Amino acid sequence: MKCKKCNKNYFEYKEMERNEKRFCNECLLKNLIYGKWSLSQERELYENLYMGRFNFFLVVFSLFVTAGFANSFTTLKDIIFYFGAFLLFLCWIPLLRAHMRFKLILELLLNKEEHLVFILQKMHFNYGYKSEVKVIKLMGVYIPLICILFLFVMGLLISFGPLKN
Ligand SMILES: [Zn+2]
Repeated sequence: MKCKKCNKNYFEYKEMERNEKRFCNECLLKNLIYGKWSLSQERELYENLYMGRFNFFLVVFSLFVTAGFANSFTTLKDIIFYFGAFLLFLCWIPLLRAHMRFKLILELLLNKEEHLVFILQKMHFNYGYKSEVKVIKLMGVYIPLICILFLFVMGLLISFGPLKN
């Protein structure tokens, strides 16, 4: 794919049918200067959105765990866990989307040497802190996956395994 502005070849995952003007990422970012909305504001918005969706995800998860264990059903207990896993999977989709957008925004900010996010990270490194675990990925991918799998496995254990009564 060729950028219409700088003629540089760039990779496009999927062709955009609606967008006739095709620009590379550098040219797209240059347009930002003329807009009123800054990356820092977008970061704030997406951080709130991301945190809100993550918190909501955990609330739904804990509700289903409580509903699954603290009930007096003698049969069909597994249905609660299966339904919980399915509903959590649906809640995961908007969370994952916010995760991907927030990650992109942070990566862009971390590449701007004059931005506070970049400076703070470098100062952190200078103090000897190293981020071994990507916290943002933990919240957007690993924790949701563990929660969904937990509910699903609990459902299986009740249906076929040792928890069957
Ligand atoms: Zn370009």
